[in-house]
Order: sequence, then C-alpha cells, then structure tokens
Amino acid sequence: MSIANKLARKELVEMVPYQSARRLQAGNGSFNSKVWLNANEASGPGIYQVNSDCINRYPDFQPDSLLNAYAQYCGLPRSQILATRGADEGIELLIRTFCKAYQDSILICPPTYGMYAISAENHGAGIIKAPLIDCQLNLEALQAQVGKVKVVFLCSPGNPTGNLLPAEQIKAAIKMFADTAIVVVDEAYIEFSPEQTAVSWINQYSNLVVLRTLSKAFALAGLRCGFTLASSDIISMLSKVIAPYPVPSPIAEIASSILTDDGIAQMRIRVQETCILRKQLIEWLDEQPWCTKVYASDANFVLFACEDKDLVFNTLSQQGILIRDQSKQLQLSNCLRISIGSEREMSLLKQTLINLLPSITANTTTSAAEK
Ligand SMILES: *Cc1c(COP(=O)(O)O)cnc(C)c1O
Repeated sequence: MSIANKLARKELVEMVPYQSARRLQAGNGSFNSKVWLNANEASGPGIYQVNSDCINRYPDFQPDSLLNAYAQYCGLPRSQILATRGADEGIELLIRTFCKAYQDSILICPPTYGMYAISAENHGAGIIKAPLIDCQLNLEALQAQVGKVKVVFLCSPGNPTGNLLPAEQIKAAIKMFADTAIVVVDEAYIEFSPEQTAVSWINQYSNLVVLRTLSKAFALAGLRCGFTLASSDIISMLSKVIAPYPVPSPIAEIASSILTDDGIAQMRIRVQETCILRKQLIEWLDEQPWCTKVYASDANFVLFACEDKDLVFNTLSQQGILIRDQSKQLQLSNCLRISIGSEREMSLLKQTLINLLPSITANTTTSAAEK
C-alpha cells in the first residue's frame, strides 16, 4: 500500500474526483483540433494584456480595481462581495465555513451541478437530497430537512437542466431555512436572464448567498474568477477561511478590464448571439426523429433526451465534436447536453448528425434484419 493510501483520510482513498469536461478529455487533442461543446464555455478567444510591473509583490487580499468593478456591476457594496478562484471556490468556502466535518450536512436538489457534492465529500460534510420535480423545487421535500442541514444549494438557471427556478420557490426556500441554514443561489448563468437575479433580496434575507462567475457569459473560464455575494457578516466569516492571497494580480487585472462598460456591452452581445443560436438548436433538435425530449433553456446550453444517446455522443466525438453525457444524473438517463458554441460550430454539429446518423441507424437496422 502506498504511503499516500496508508495515511490519507480513508474516504478519500475511494473518492472519485469531479469528472470535469476537461478531465474527461485530458490528452484528447489541443483546443484547436476539436469542437468543444462540453463545458458551457463561450466560443472564441479574448485579447488581454497584463502589466507585470508589480509581479514581485503579493496582491491585495481583494484587489480594489476588481472589487470596485464588480460592485458597480452587481449593485452591492464591496463589503458584500468576495472574489474567489471561480464560483467553485465559493462553494467550497461555504461548506468549510458552515459545516462541521463529520457532523453537518448540505442539501442539494438533483439533477444539479456536481461540485456541491464533491466539495461536501472532500470536507466530510453529509449530503441530503431533495430531487427536483419537473425541473422545479420540491418544497415539501425541502421543508422536511429544515433543521437537518447547514447549507442549501439551489442552481438557477440549473445545470444541467437549464431552466430558471421560479422566484417564488426560491423565496419560499430562503424563508423556510431563515434561522437554520444558508441558502445559496448559484447564478453561474444569470447573465442569460439578468432580470431574474436574487441579488436584490440579499439585504432582506440574511441567510441568502448568491454565487457568480466570469467563466460563462463573460467567456473567461480559463481565468478562474468568481464572486460570492452576501451580507457583510457572511463575507467576513468566509474571509477567515479563504487563502490570504486568493486573487492573483494578473487575474484581477484581466477581470477588471472585462468589467468595464465596454466589456459588459460585449458580454451582452455575446449573450444575445448565444440565445439566437440556442433557439435554433432547440428547434432543430425538436424536429429530429431520434430526439425524444428537449428541455427549455435559460442558459448557454441545451439538454435533450434521445433514443440512443451513445450513438449520438459517439458519432459526434468521432468527428471531434465533444458534448457532455448527463445520463448518470438522477432522472436524466438518455440525456446529453450541448453547450452553445459559435454559429460555425453549431452548423458543424447539426451537419455531422444529419450526414452520419441516418446511415448508422440504417446500418444497424439492416444488420439486425439480416441476423
Ligand atoms: C460552471 C459552473 C460553476 C463554476 O464556475 P467557475 O467560476 O468556473 O468555478 C458553478 N456553478 C455552476 C452551476 C456552473 O455551471
């Protein structure tokens, strides 16, 4: 037995790390040799420059330029914002701050984003599930867990489901847990329906936390920059747990440059383009005989169910087009998820399926008949 296995916390020896889209495709060609539609990233690069004059110095705990820019963008004061290494770090901090290991639990509503459970497992927090019903919250199931959990994760728009949760449901959940749990609304995709944000409720409900990221609509997944928004009391508490220099200075610089009026306007145009391509993809999928259900989407991806999901997935992947298999998620057997890429990438995907799927389906039918 290796020393690592011998000395590590036992549960980590068996633990499977998060199967991120990137990890699943490790070594599978460069960014340019494939069509990447599996991680809800934006298509196309940005051009940024960094000034390395002060790179010999530690950065500020929360760099001024970045915090001021995000404060302006989200409408909260700086004391209610914590910049983190992606929204993922916000998830981890919330669990480490509010859950006592091997004692407290989080609540999740599957099918949902995988990192809530992975971070809980890593920390030794329990995981209680109140599954969605038709992509909406089951408030009765949530009610049954009041007093039994410390952090509740709601994802709106949901990943991989794609839809916004009704505002009234989110509010009901926040009120239900008012005295006993932090309710986290993960708004990684909120730029696709900005009017639905829960941010304006933060000053009304002291147990509400909102998570944001620059990885999706802002097209900066490689930057690793996210934000946790909450009361200043919660932000102060999280600040005790986060690393002392959580935001590297080049990251702060690039992130601040995208949070200017110009950068935000560019993001809004990208969102509009994405929504048009999304509508086209949904309509197209709806017409395909092999596609059995297309989920509504308020985000930059589309979830759908099909008759032979392996055939669809493999046909695309053999042509270098990578999408995400969601069939292991609760309630989503036969489901695949396509991130909205560029117009060219979307037509390539459709054309590939138009060209290859009928012949494959025909071949399998013939060979079955011959047997
Ligand atoms: C992508 C995503 C995140 C993680 O965002 P990062 O800022 O890249 O860590 C968090 N939540 C959901 C629902 C996501 O889809």
